[in-house]
Amino acid sequence: MKRLDPVLEEDTKRMLVDLEGDSAVEGRSVLVTGGAGFLGSWLCDLLLKLGAQVTCLDNFSSGRLDNVSHLLGHERFRLVKQDVTRFERNDKYDFIVHAASRASPEDYQIHPIETMLANSLGSLKVLEVARRCDSKILYTSTSEVYGDAKVIPTPEDYWGNVNPIGPRSCYDEAKRFGEALFMSYYRKYGVDVRIARIFNTYGPRLREDSAYGRAVSRFISQALRGDDITVYGDGEQTRSFCYVTDMTVGLYLMLTREGVKGQVVNLGNPRETTINELAELIKRITNSRSRIVHLPPVPDDPRRRCPDISRATELLGWRPRVSLEDGLRRTVEWLKRKIES
Ligand code: UDP
Repeated sequence: MKRLDPVLEEDTKRMLVDLEGDSAVEGRSVLVTGGAGFLGSWLCDLLLKLGAQVTCLDNFSSGRLDNVSHLLGHERFRLVKQDVTRFERNDKYDFIVHAASRASPEDYQIHPIETMLANSLGSLKVLEVARRCDSKILYTSTSEVYGDAKVIPTPEDYWGNVNPIGPRSCYDEAKRFGEALFMSYYRKYGVDVRIARIFNTYGPRLREDSAYGRAVSRFISQALRGDDITVYGDGEQTRSFCYVTDMTVGLYLMLTREGVKGQVVNLGNPRETTINELAELIKRITNSRSRIVHLPPVPDDPRRRCPDISRATELLGWRPRVSLEDGLRRTVEWLKRKIES
C-alpha cells in the first residue's frame, strides 16, 4: 500500500482525536459518491479509520485515482469506477454520501450538462438506493444555492439570490434542484436525508491545475512557482475559507448524528476574507516574490460569502478549529512536496 503524505497522516490522526470513541459507522456499510474527489477522499479515509466498510464510486471526471490509491488493497475498501447517473447496484448501504459533482466554477462551466445531471439524475439514483436500503443519506450542497447573497453572514433560512440562466446556474440551480429532490424524498417517503451547505473549503488534495484550480490552491501554486498571482476583478470580493479537516468532521457529524433528519445545515468557517487579503497572506506564507496582478472580473462572481453557523453549532456541537494561517501553512507544505515529487 502507498504511504500517505505526512500532512494527511497527521491531519487524519487529529480528526480521530476529535471523534475519539465514536462508533457510529463501525462495521457499517457506507457509499461515498465522488469518493475520489477532494472532500470524498477525506471522508473515505476517515470512515475507514472509524471501522466502516467503504464503497467509493467515482467516474474520475474531476476526482483523481491518486487521492485513493493508498486505500487500494484495504480489506474494507472498494472502488467502483462509474458515473453516478448510471449507478445500478443491489448492495445494501447503511449510510450514503452524495458528493459526486464538479465543483470548480471554471470547470463546471466547461461541463454544464454533466454538472446538472450529477446533481439531478445522480441524486435520483442515490435517493432510490437510500429508499430501498433505509439508509441515512447526506447531500453535499453548497453556499452557491445562496447565489450573490444579500444577507451576510448567511443563515439557512435565506432563500438566495441566484441568476437562473447565468454562467454559474448549471451548478447553483442543479444544487438547488438536488436539495428540493432530497426534501421531496424526505416528505414523500420519509427517507432520512440530511443536507450540508458547504462553504469554500481548502487543504491538501484540492486541485490546483488548469480549470480545476480554486483561488487557494491556484494562488499557492502560483506563489511557489514564482508566477503571477491572478486576482479576478478588484479582489475586494470575499470568501470564508474552511480547512478540510474541519469540514470532514462536520460532514461526518451531519451523516451520523440524530436530530438532523430532514435538516439543512451550513458548514464553513465564518472568518470572512477578501481575495486580496488571501493573495497577500499566501505570498507572505510562501515567502514568494510573485506579483499580484488583477485580471478582468468573472461574470456573476458573488460579492460576499460568509456562513452563519449557529445551526451547526447547536445541532452538531461543531465549529471550525483550524485558523486560516495554520491551514494555509499545511496546504503549502503538502503542495510543495507534490510539486517537487
Ligand atoms: N479567483 C481569483 N483568481 C483565481 C481563481 C479565483 O481571483 O485564479 C477568485 C474568484 O473570482 C472568486 C474567489 O476567488 O471571487 C473564489 O474563487 P474559487 O474558484 O475558489 O471558488 P468560488 O467561491 O467562486 O466557488
